[in-house]
Amino acid sequence: QNEKDSQFIVSNWAKDHYHNLLLNTDEGQSIGLSYLRQRGLNQTTIKTFELGYSLDQWDDLMKTADKLGYERKYLEKTGLIITREDEQGKDTGRRYDRFRGRVMFPIHNVSGRVIGFGARTLKPNDKTAKYLNSPESEIYHKSDVLYGLYQARQAIRTEELCYLVEGYLDVLSLHQGDIKNVVASSGTSLTDGQIRLIKRYTDNVTVLYDGDAAGIRASLRGIDMLLEGGLNVRVVLFPDGDDPDSYIRKVGDQRFKDHLENASQDFIQFKTDLVAREAAQDPVKKAEAIRDVLQSIGKVPDPIKRQVFLQQTSQAFSIDEQVLITEYNKLVRNAT
Ligand code: ATP
Ligand code: MN
Ligand code: MN
Ligand code: MN
Repeated sequence: QNEKDSQFIVSNWAKDHYHNLLLNTDEGQSIGLSYLRQRGLNQTTIKTFELGYSLDQWDDLMKTADKLGYERKYLEKTGLIITREDEQGKDTGRRYDRFRGRVMFPIHNVSGRVIGFGARTLKPNDKTAKYLNSPESEIYHKSDVLYGLYQARQAIRTEELCYLVEGYLDVLSLHQGDIKNVVASSGTSLTDGQIRLIKRYTDNVTVLYDGDAAGIRASLRGIDMLLEGGLNVRVVLFPDGDDPDSYIRKVGDQRFKDHLENASQDFIQFKTDLVAREAAQDPVKKAEAIRDVLQSIGKVPDPIKRQVFLQQTSQAFSIDEQVLITEYNKLVRNAT
């Protein structure tokens, strides 16, 4: 039994422990479970994603592990317990559980093994982060993981489409609303590793980021990366202040699905609308906006698609296609 196997084993055990605390203890039920219920999640979703709860104590996980004979070494290596060091970086001998009083979201790899956790605080005025994640370990490489992919992979194949959202709750709410081809880049901005992962299942991605400024910025960044990865990208925007989770809860499954149909734009439309709104009548801004779109088109590896996008852009901005192509070629030359 090697190093990695031991880390898989403690992670799997911790997942079971947290799940059991959520369902079968007073604290878990009254704090964790009631929170998940209040967020609209049902028993099936909780079971499918193996959600859990960590007790609000410093050493529940550590003590239980000791009792059962799990080596601390592996709890440390997977970041489940933290070793306090002094200023010189020397071990002070003080250890405590990383996750305390939080709802636990186990993160699975594509074969369904637990490799890490996301954890949400339940305290409204928590001074620490709303979400905590496991640190990098030998089995958990954040940049190569998509939350929910294990539960979504079949649906992504059959639907030939992957919805990409920002958060854990977005994945869970949509999955529960029978939109099962959904994953989140939780905890990081989208990475090339995550894009390669999606490509194993489909070439089509629809980005469903939060309807706030940060979400729009993130989708713009994400889109260029997805395009470079050779994926077909569409975008759905939500009203400002909503994310996919809050929106599906507000309007219900059917209207949410209608919104996905009706509000889905390809990336040219999306960028064009966005920049056109800002540029309005200002020709300088409009020129900037067009170059911005051209820059994105430059990332598309397929020359035929590029051609189609250039035609669309020319129509969207009412710019002569030849002029646009000249400008595009200039941009591409300068970029290389
Ligand atoms: P909720 O609906 O529970 O408030 P959310 O998923 O809508 O959560 P956002 O603020 O939109 O929360 O963040 C999106 C995602 O980004 C989270 O699900 C989480 O993966 C990650 N995230 C948010 N805040 C933090 C943080 N402080 N540290 C690490 N990751 C975070
Ligand atoms: Mn947000
Ligand atoms: Mn949310
Ligand atoms: Mn959100």
